[in-house]
Amino acid sequence: DEDAALLAGIEVGEDGISYAPALPVLAIVGRPNVGKSALVNRILGRREAVVEDTPGVTRDRVTYKAEWNERRFSLVDTGGWEPDAKGIDASVAAQAEVAIDLSDAVLFVVDAKVGATATDEHVVRLLRKTKKPVFLVANKIDDARQEPEAAALWNLGLGEPHPVSAIHGRGVADLLDAVMKKLPTVSAVAKQEIGGPRRVAILGRPNVGKSSLLNKAAGEERVVVNELAGTTRDPVDEIVELGGKLWTLVDTAGIRRRVHLQQGADFYASLRTSAALEKSEVAVVVLDVTQPISVQDLNIIDLVLESGRALVLAYNKWDLLDDDRRRYLEREIEQDLAHVAWAPRVNISARTGRHLDKLVPALEQALESWDTRVPTGKFNAFITELVAEHPHPVRGGKQPRILFGTQAATRPPTFVLFTTGFLDPGYRRFITRRLREIWGFEGTPIVVNMRVRE
Ligand code: GDP
Repeated sequence: DEDAALLAGIEVGEDGISYAPALPVLAIVGRPNVGKSALVNRILGRREAVVEDTPGVTRDRVTYKAEWNERRFSLVDTGGWEPDAKGIDASVAAQAEVAIDLSDAVLFVVDAKVGATATDEHVVRLLRKTKKPVFLVANKIDDARQEPEAAALWNLGLGEPHPVSAIHGRGVADLLDAVMKKLPTVSAVAKQEIGGPRRVAILGRPNVGKSSLLNKAAGEERVVVNELAGTTRDPVDEIVELGGKLWTLVDTAGIRRRVHLQQGADFYASLRTSAALEKSEVAVVVLDVTQPISVQDLNIIDLVLESGRALVLAYNKWDLLDDDRRRYLEREIEQDLAHVAWAPRVNISARTGRHLDKLVPALEQALESWDTRVPTGKFNAFITELVAEHPHPVRGGKQPRILFGTQAATRPPTFVLFTTGFLDPGYRRFITRRLREIWGFEGTPIVVNMRVRE
């Protein structure tokens, strides 16, 4: 089960994602029942796994490794996200949008017997806009006599219709020949993936509003992609669009699924938190403003700090805040959360949607800080100036000197100072404070290490 898998994941200490050589990605989009699954099967050359188009049926796989004339590529089948009739136009369009974003070329399948429908319109508009190669596939053309029906699809403005019969195989070889001419040999999107959807963990104790936030921000009917070309992704993660960008939300299953176990509930909760942090780059810690800041909240924040991930604090249920509680809250924050005063703060309501648009800029800021690299020259100029202005106090007749410093790592920014003796903790904190004054580092922990040269 999930927890066992999680445990296993922790034991191997996996970083969540590995990036295999980036095969080009070919996505298949289209309405339900146009024959996407049949086409996938035909291209794969086997009748495996892929079920017939059935509205409402969710397949657990969306990506297949495929090959044509010794060219290997990934086939993304959006049929795995088959929506039901309600809201179908929007769903198909949303799926197509994600598929276009995540692919190097697109096969747009239309049932030539039916022609393009209103549901197709939005997708056609999206496809006309993309610079990626788009192939219009006129399916269900079972013999030459039916080809005029395919030709009628010229009017979609997507170029030449490729008549095929996915069931019988007719025309599929010609289609794939045409695709191979336009499909890059190395994926542009899979490369993007490396810097690509950034990994966010939504954390917080039970009932602070994590799942409400997830649903409000990402949408209840969000498009879920569990497997992308060239990546191995935990099935409990989801890719969602927020603020016009794709993000990987790690362990969303853990958010939706309540732990009913009485015994060990805390253990499982912190296990999940640790596992989610392990896989994430930035954490959103959600706090409930109607409740006092608790030890549990502080423990979660500590876990984030230990993990070295970027941090955003989301103060939720702002709609329930009255003036008295608000004053008290600000005092609590000053007292208990002074050590994370550098974390961007968003005051939100998952219920009303208040300020949810501030979340993405906060995440972006935190990640930018997390990635920041200060050039060695600048860092040493900073150290020289700082020491001149405020030398280390003399201890026992000695004054440790800082010989040289450098930023040894990013994510989070980690500095090393080469010194002639131990620096006081107070002095190190002073250095950290100054670093923040100069470079901000809003949203990221920073680490300052010492190497003492005797
Ligand atoms: P989770 O356990 O952290 O995922 O919390 P839920 O999202 O399940 O929320 C717990 C309860 O708080 C639910 O009854 C929500 O409706 C409620 N809730 C969540 N966010 C807000 C909010 O911004 N305002 C109000 N008034 N209630 C909220």
